[in-house]
Amino acid sequence: MKSRLIKRRHFLGLTLGLGLSSFSSRLKGNSSTKVPSVLILGAGLSGLYSALLLERAGFLVTILEGRDRIGGRIHTLKDLPGSPEAGAQGLSNLYSRLLSLGSRYGIQFQRRQRSARAKILFYIDGKVVSPAQWASSDVNQLSQAEKHILPPRLMTHYLRPNNPLQNREDWISSQYWQLDISLADYLKSQGASDEALRLMNVYPFSMNQIDSASALWGLRNDLLSQNPTSKPMRIIGGNSLLPETLAANLSSSIYLRKIIEEIRSSSEQVTVYCSDGSSYSADYALCTLPFSILRQIKIDPPIKGKQKEAVNNLPYTRVTQVYLSFKSPLKTRENIPLRLWSDSILEQIFPVKDEQGKVKGLTIWANGDNADRLDCLSTRQISQVVKSQLAKINPDLTNMVDIKRVTTWGSDPFSLGAYSHFAPGQISQFSNIMARPWQRIYFAGEHTGIIAPGMEKALESAERAIQELLAIVR
Ligand SMILES: Cc1cc2nc3c(=O)[nH]c(=O)nc-3n(C[C@H](O)[C@H](O)[C@H](O)COP(=O)(O)OP(=O)(O)OC[C@H]3O[C@@H](n4cnc5c(N)ncnc54)[C@H](O)[C@@H]3O)c2cc1C
Repeated sequence: MKSRLIKRRHFLGLTLGLGLSSFSSRLKGNSSTKVPSVLILGAGLSGLYSALLLERAGFLVTILEGRDRIGGRIHTLKDLPGSPEAGAQGLSNLYSRLLSLGSRYGIQFQRRQRSARAKILFYIDGKVVSPAQWASSDVNQLSQAEKHILPPRLMTHYLRPNNPLQNREDWISSQYWQLDISLADYLKSQGASDEALRLMNVYPFSMNQIDSASALWGLRNDLLSQNPTSKPMRIIGGNSLLPETLAANLSSSIYLRKIIEEIRSSSEQVTVYCSDGSSYSADYALCTLPFSILRQIKIDPPIKGKQKEAVNNLPYTRVTQVYLSFKSPLKTRENIPLRLWSDSILEQIFPVKDEQGKVKGLTIWANGDNADRLDCLSTRQISQVVKSQLAKINPDLTNMVDIKRVTTWGSDPFSLGAYSHFAPGQISQFSNIMARPWQRIYFAGEHTGIIAPGMEKALESAERAIQELLAIVR
């Protein structure tokens, strides 16, 4: 089995203002100083970026990854038409770390055109309704005051006007912790009707259900989505190009198929034990594994108190996607609902476009309970459910598509969820302690980021963890 992926390549070097070069020069200039070694657990974006930063600072780095590929929750399905993204979908011009990191390594970015809102259709209560028909449709059971609001806009309608958060880090400040309550309760207090609450449970962004997520988390997400200067971007060649490029520019060894089962931290070193019987030791470990995974791994000595509760209980959003390809190139697009928002098990449909903007397929996206319902079915049963739903939405569409693949993040053994969020009461308890170093173990990964969204959060978390490590070894 060839598990060593990359060995000794020239490192291009970064200058990220983290004081890495000065630390590295000091290490080199002092022959009596032992070069510190670090095991990085996980070769997702945060692990690979951490490795780059640590190499730059002069550390000896080894990366252990459980899958047979790098990239973790960044995964471009290059073998499917239009190369849909299974993991991270997109970025924006506000992802400053990601854009500058990618540009340094020659990655090219492209502005993504927003799809016109008019093209979306709603499939609610078994009936297809256009945005223009929505306010007067008989399936619109919203209160009189809400009838004009399109279903995907309901959450913003209730969160934005009274959102007290001003800055992106406000949500972890105790000043706002009275809002660390159920999002459903908060929305009710803002006047949302029962039907509005039901519709807001269809794809509530970055959570499973509105009653099992913190209102403060919802307000934080609303604040992040408010920036009027935000422009959607894409990586030319697909998002997987980013981790692949970072890995190709590392000198460190990356070992694949190393499923970590135990992490032991002594006064001298950290030793990590893998399912194949191998073990690795270093001065420190930097753990980027999602908490959904870490809670299954033995840590010795065990993490304690609220941090342990955070590891054990931080919720992850379950997402299941079904990718469809067109049997023949699309000609008459106008009758085909390429974007659909629905209260059925299919929840959302959106087009997969290639870099020229041509529609190559469709992605069906189910969240939370609907993802669970799909995950209980075999691929054949999923295919039957999808086809029968599509037949009700548009009979032509059923005959035009083939089901190519199903991705379930909720049951992926290396992530057990798509992204972390906070349940009511958890922000006040966990947000300030969950990423604290434990013994010789440091923590990074999107779940430990504060300010940025998605991939940028994974990068932000790596920078914070590296600063913590540098402060110890300096
Ligand atoms: C469906 C979906 C949609 C998304 N959409 C967006 C988006 O539009 N924009 C955006 O910015 N972000 C998005 N994200 C989030 C983004 O992908 C993540 O924030 C980011 O990739 C997380 O990187 P990470 O390094 O923190 O975690 P990961 O990528 O999960 O890295 C952790 C690594 O640890 C490995 N690992 C796990 N268990 C073990 C084990 N036992 N032993 C060894 N290795 C192990 C994993 O295989 C993985 O490689 C999305 C994610 C998903 C799933």
